[in-house]
Amino acid sequence: MTTARRTHGFRESVIRGMTRLAREYNSINLAQGFPNFPAPDLLKEAAIRAVRDDINQYAITWGAQRLREALARKYATWYAIAADPEREITVTCGATEAMIATLLALVNPGDEVIVFEPFYENYGPDTILADARPVYVPLEPSGPLDLDRLASAFSPRTRAIIVNTPSNPAGRVLTRAELEAIRDLCVRYDALAVTDEIYEHIRFWGEHIPIATLPGMRERTVTISGASKTFSVTGWRVGWIVAPAALTDAIRKVHDFLTVGAPAPLQEGVAVALDQLDESFYASLAEGYRGRRDLLHAALVESGFKCEPPEGAYYILADYSGLSELDDTAFAVWLSREVGVTPVPGSSFFSRGGERSLVRFVFCKTSDVLEEAARRLRGTAGQRGSGAERTEEPAVRSGLQR
Ligand code: GLN
Repeated sequence: MTTARRTHGFRESVIRGMTRLAREYNSINLAQGFPNFPAPDLLKEAAIRAVRDDINQYAITWGAQRLREALARKYATWYAIAADPEREITVTCGATEAMIATLLALVNPGDEVIVFEPFYENYGPDTILADARPVYVPLEPSGPLDLDRLASAFSPRTRAIIVNTPSNPAGRVLTRAELEAIRDLCVRYDALAVTDEIYEHIRFWGEHIPIATLPGMRERTVTISGASKTFSVTGWRVGWIVAPAALTDAIRKVHDFLTVGAPAPLQEGVAVALDQLDESFYASLAEGYRGRRDLLHAALVESGFKCEPPEGAYYILADYSGLSELDDTAFAVWLSREVGVTPVPGSSFFSRGGERSLVRFVFCKTSDVLEEAARRLRGTAGQRGSGAERTEEPAVRSGLQR
């Protein structure tokens, strides 16, 4: 039997593939970005209570009333964004569903969608599933967004730009000036901004500015975020969208037919966390991540990698060219198998891979795990990926396909 052509246009997720490989080699998984530490008790207790109280049937398709109201309060206090919970807020199965539902609802076949590169690997397939064409603009870990490159990517065919800040995997927190430049182009070309603000509370520098707050943007922005990273519950699959009513209407139709709704009792848990956790929770979340970032960054530099400490999110993109001449997939697999630390090959974050010597590590792990990873990595400076592993590459690559 044949399969649909649209699925031939992209590769499977390398991030999820590396997680499977880490399990196989019993290696420390610094590939997929999920925390290994517990979620706040208050959130867990509220979800358990909801199950016990039999909040076990579908919530309203676009989200439990209580969660939409809690979100409206938070967007008002955090960012002075007034959002109507009845007409402008939609709860989804994670930010992942929010992004694909938004693109399916708002982008026409043949439209162009601007994506910063390196990118979170879902955006390319999301765009292709929406029959649109991704147009890539570089956003490096160090250095500002190249505004000339950005301007030349926009055209009358541009329907939307995906704005992910703090960014995965570059770790950039976009500045007000960068966001204003994006705003000016969106207005000039009548394009939408579709954001991914899932790391909004994990920042080590600067301020989080939702692009929706810039003059002229509220009516053309779809703001996406979720509970996964802020409350360390990536498996709960609770995300959300804030968008003007007309856009929300279209997005809700797609969302309804895709998933009907996010898990009802977990939505209650997230609502309680949003209402009850105060500023100190968010401050200590960022502080905890700062310590983990510094630990992993120091270990990588001491081990011979070249990398910048990120401004936000919980990833480090590291250059291993001083350590090995292997290509990035072979190096990542070698590191996983021989050193016992699993990263993601950098090419998974670029439209055209191959020539760069980059791998991505996560630091959303407790310090005991990061310290053990650091100890193993420091040992690599002596070992070096020699190239002998190339003979095993085909088997390893097919291992990634599972
Ligand atoms: N966003 C995380 C990452 O980039 C998790 C991805 C996923 O598997 N959903 O690793």
